[in-house]
Order: sequence, then C-alpha cells, then structure tokens
Amino acid sequence: MATLIQNRSASSGLVGSRASATKGRGVSVRPVQRTASDRTRGGNVVSPRRKDFPIFQERPELVYLDSAATSLKPKCVIDAVADYYGKYSANVHRGIYRLSEEATAAYEGARKTIQQFIGAKSEKEIIFTRGATEAINLVAQGWGSQYLKSGDEIILTVLEHHSNIVPWQMVAKKKNCVIKYLDVDDRGVLKTDQLSKLLTRRTKIIALTHVSNGIGVINPLKPIIQKAHAIGAKVLVDAAQSTPHSPLDVQYLDCDFLAFSGHKMCGPTGIGVLYAKEKILQEMEPFLGGGDMILEVTKTNSTWNEIPWKFEAGTPPIAEAIGLGAALVYLREIGMSTIRTHEKKLLAHALELLQKIPGVTLYGPCDPEIQAGVLSFGIDGVHPHDIASIFDEDNIAIRAGHHCNMLLMERFGIPATARASFYLYNTETDVEKLAQAVLKVKKIFS
Ligand code: PMP
Repeated sequence: MATLIQNRSASSGLVGSRASATKGRGVSVRPVQRTASDRTRGGNVVSPRRKDFPIFQERPELVYLDSAATSLKPKCVIDAVADYYGKYSANVHRGIYRLSEEATAAYEGARKTIQQFIGAKSEKEIIFTRGATEAINLVAQGWGSQYLKSGDEIILTVLEHHSNIVPWQMVAKKKNCVIKYLDVDDRGVLKTDQLSKLLTRRTKIIALTHVSNGIGVINPLKPIIQKAHAIGAKVLVDAAQSTPHSPLDVQYLDCDFLAFSGHKMCGPTGIGVLYAKEKILQEMEPFLGGGDMILEVTKTNSTWNEIPWKFEAGTPPIAEAIGLGAALVYLREIGMSTIRTHEKKLLAHALELLQKIPGVTLYGPCDPEIQAGVLSFGIDGVHPHDIASIFDEDNIAIRAGHHCNMLLMERFGIPATARASFYLYNTETDVEKLAQAVLKVKKIFS
C-alpha cells in the first residue's frame, strides 16, 4: 500500500498571498445553518461521526478547529480506558494471575493494532513512548549518542516542530555535530532541489516532518528517503500530523524511524509511538533503564530484555496504550482515505471562502493536493491572539501563536499566525462559521 500523501508539483498560492480588494468586493459567506448539502457534499460521509464524540453532546455549540494541537476523543476510546481501570486494571508482563494476563493481552494487542495500522513488518518494531516528543528524544539520545561522532552532520528542515529540533541540538552539542537546515520556498514547500548540496558523506541522519503543524504542507518523503539512503544516512519521520489524517505505510516509505502521538488521533494523552526498523533496534542501546527493559541484573552489570521491551523502562502507560489501540480500530473502520478526502474538501472550502476576504493573509501552499487540513492565516492589523479570543466568543476554538515553529515564523518574517485545523468531526458548516468569524473580527477592528 502506498501512502496517499504524495507531493505533486505545487500549483498557485503564495505564502503571504492575500485576497485583492477587488476580488474581495461583495464577498459573502453563506449563513450558517445545517442544509441538505451538509449531508451530501464535502465528504460529509464522515461528519455524522460527531455523534461518536461525547463532547458535542456536552457542548453542542462547539466548533473545534484545533485538532492539530490535540483531537477530541470518541466514546469508544473513553470506554476502553474506563474498562481497563474498572474491569481489569493490573500491571502488565509481571503477574502470574489472570487479571494481569488480561491487561498484558490488551496492552500487547494495542501494539499489534498499531503495527498493522502503519504497515510495520513486526510488532517488535513498535515502541510505546509518552508521545512523539519522547519518541524523537529516544532516537536522538539513544541512537544519536551511540552512532554520531564529532563532525557528523544532521539535516533538519525549517518546517520542524521544536520537538524535532531541540533533541537534535542537544545531541549535536554533546557530540560536536553540525546541524544543517533545508529551506522552504515562499509557499512553505521544501526546496528539495537543495538536498543534493546539503547531503555529504558526513550526513548521518535526516529528521523531518511529514506534515507541517504550522502550515499543513505535505512533504515528499519518498524521494528524500531514497536520496538519504543512497549515501548511507538514516531518516526519521515526524508523523505527528500525518498518521492521524491519511493512510501511511512505513514499509513503502522505507523510513528508518517514525514518531507520532496518540492524542492527535483520537487516542489518550501520554501515549505515543516510535517505529524503527528491527535491525536498528536490535543494535541500539536502551534509552532509559529499569523495570521491563531488564533481563538480568547483577551487582556490576545488567542485560537487556528483547525488543520492543528493551526500550520500555518502568511500568508503561497501560490504559493509554489500550486507548490508542481502540482509537486506531475506530479510525480504521472509517478508513484513512475517507478521512483524508473529507479534510481535503474542508480545506478547499476554507481556502475558497478565506481567499475572498480582503486583508486576510493565508500561509502555506493553499493547495489541498499538497496540504493537510491545517490552515494558518492572519488578518491585517489584528494580532492572532485577538483573533482567537474573538473566535472563542462564538465557541470557535482555534490556535494562535508560533505553534512551536519558531524557525518557520522567522522564515516568513512573522511572530505568529492564527491556525484552524480540521478532523473527521468537522463539517462544512464549521468552515462557514470560521469565515463568518473572520468577517466579525474585521468588523470589530475596522
Ligand atoms: N511534531 C509535530 C509536527 C507536532 O505537531 C507535535 C505536536 N504539536 C509534536 C511533534 C510533538 O507532539 P507531542 O507534544 O504529542 O509529543
């Protein structure tokens, strides 16, 4: 299976592209009311899924457009977590009693679900972490400390979340390595033609995001991975923003490492995954010591458990892993291609509406073919924090700030953006409310 996310030659749309005043004249946003079209257009095959999310019963007015930060949780996930605590809560791998065996089976079952979800060869390649950040740190500190030498080079991109920059800076300082950055063009699209110049015999790893959390651009992973492998470098993919939203296959990509978080894909907080090729994990030293990662301890030495447990020190996040397993079963049933198609339509609709509004600046490619359901924007003369506060008056939750993307903000010469991000529970009505709220902000500041 190939990943659906493929970069194509990018089309129009400038970073900082703004609707011209003429284009914007007479702009109108449809009044918000649920119409028959809501049920038949815009990939809204997925929108009835709102009923799966109890928060909408609690807060029917909520327009949640911050799924890039964290997603809402469906009832099946909440139930899976509650069931573990209420019905079979015991530690895993240790007990010689049925309760513990049941907990172990559920925990390891979640690992199997994850393996299948991302197309890994074996469950041994799936390591539970607390999130994408910890997974990347595991590679930087574990693999990096073991294999990086003075003068070696690490390639990152200016699109990276701080979680995929700082761990590399930490290990680079320790090991006296050089970090190089692949730049983007004015639309936020990676300048992959510069990669050949950046790659040298000293390049040991490229760590890059699949989808930018700041502007939603989808990176063309496959050719980058092929180029890195051609010179013997490894590739880590930060898939925190892609695994939740589209099909993904690690064997097709042939990446060496891949990291993501459960809470952005309908799962609980405090759980994430590091995928790594089995051979690499076999040869890697453990990251943290203690608990399940041990085979035997003497006064002077210890030996390690088999993979993946060699990398899971201490009592693991059991309920969280089980909850993530339930989330992936839920997403699999809907279909990741269906989710991608739905979000693509929502983004296209949002672009269509916001591009018409004068004084609105859209950041990113503005092309649903190479952009996930993340839309960063600004309004002339209004700080993004004010935009988010005014939106909140109408129960519209968006994110404002640098999005842990300070390098990208620097590249665009801005301190912050307002960001709306979509998921399976959003509808075209939500997008229309977003556009109406933009008009409201403009009116307040006019
Ligand atoms: N990478 C990307 C692209 C992200 O969007 C995020 C979360 N915003 C992270 C890494 C870090 O994820 P977590 O905080 O769940 O560890």
